Amino acid sequence: MRDKALILSAPYIIASENSSKLCCDITCSDRSFTAWFEVTSEYSRYLTADRLDAFAVVFLPLAMRENADMICKAPVSPELIYQINHYLTPVLGKNIKEYNAITLNAKPAGERIQSEGAAGTGWTGGVDSMYTLKTRLKASEPHMRLTHLVIANIGTLESSDNEGLLDIMVKRAEAGICADTGLKCVGINSNLDTVLPENYLAVAGYRLPAAVLALQGLFSVFYHSGAYEFDTFTFAGENSAYYEMFLLPCLSTDATVFYSSGSSISRIEKLKELSDYPYAEQYLHPCIYAKTGKNCGKCGKCIRTIAALYALGTLDRFDKVFDTSDFYNNKDHYLANVISNRHRQHYKESYDMMTEKGLITVKSMQLSKMQNAAKIIADRNRSTLEKVLGKEK
Ligand SMILES: [Zn+2]
Repeated sequence: MRDKALILSAPYIIASENSSKLCCDITCSDRSFTAWFEVTSEYSRYLTADRLDAFAVVFLPLAMRENADMICKAPVSPELIYQINHYLTPVLGKNIKEYNAITLNAKPAGERIQSEGAAGTGWTGGVDSMYTLKTRLKASEPHMRLTHLVIANIGTLESSDNEGLLDIMVKRAEAGICADTGLKCVGINSNLDTVLPENYLAVAGYRLPAAVLALQGLFSVFYHSGAYEFDTFTFAGENSAYYEMFLLPCLSTDATVFYSSGSSISRIEKLKELSDYPYAEQYLHPCIYAKTGKNCGKCGKCIRTIAALYALGTLDRFDKVFDTSDFYNNKDHYLANVISNRHRQHYKESYDMMTEKGLITVKSMQLSKMQNAAKIIADRNRSTLEKVLGKEK
């Protein structure tokens, strides 16, 4: 047993008129706080309050970082205890320098959960979640066919009012993609961004599964949309997406099974498959700005998606979601951006295809060189610039 412990008290539910919160009181070092997941009343009956699964998973990275054993004051699903102690923490402790091979101490839950048999996936409208929708909406195996989209406020939303943004995103999905497909949308709120501030990319593969484990009474299958191809697997402490193929099966329970979805092909191959998918033409939303519902066309995710569709020759099919005329009016600038970022995986795919097809223009190469030169000069003179700007304040 380690000197340090992260203690999770028995979970409990606080119900209000329109929603219910699954809560857990936590003590770590000299700090005590309450973490919670919240759903609307429609989903209250599915909250899993007889075991600590959701909280054990969401606090696992913290425990591993702090080198603190987890002491659970309520049962945890036996599969989770076994998988965490015998696979997850020993392997991550050995391969990720920030993590330690801590132990999850908990009594195994005796009773099995009778799940409603729903199949869900996280929804942003981005390329990866849209590809999961395409491949799992009409799955031939009825019990593995998508029934629910999940939108969660678990640290990934970046606005001054994340709860309000969650509400907007759920309503938009209900009025749009859900109305068209017959899927239901579950919004999961939490206070994780205040009680557990972490680098989201480092823990994304724990957070959404944890939120889903809070609803084991609902979900028997959950597709976690992968961002990188399986063959890029690596134990990357700063980005769990690179090892989620190992992580997700370790988070499955008797009631809810997790799959890493879509990572057998690259992002640009997904876009190729989505290029004849009416729901993608109508609802594709890779943009980092979630509030407006419109793709901005200027952020990195928009630019690399537009560039990939241009490389594929299918951009014009997406004129409902992108301002394609802006692209054609400023094509060299868009391409220069891709050239400058070609060392990054999701840009590289577009760059390689555009190079192969002879789509890279001389002007875009010149612009890229100018951008890079300006960046080098700015970097070299950063301290001088900061001094000058500081003096001017
Ligand atoms: Zn954008």
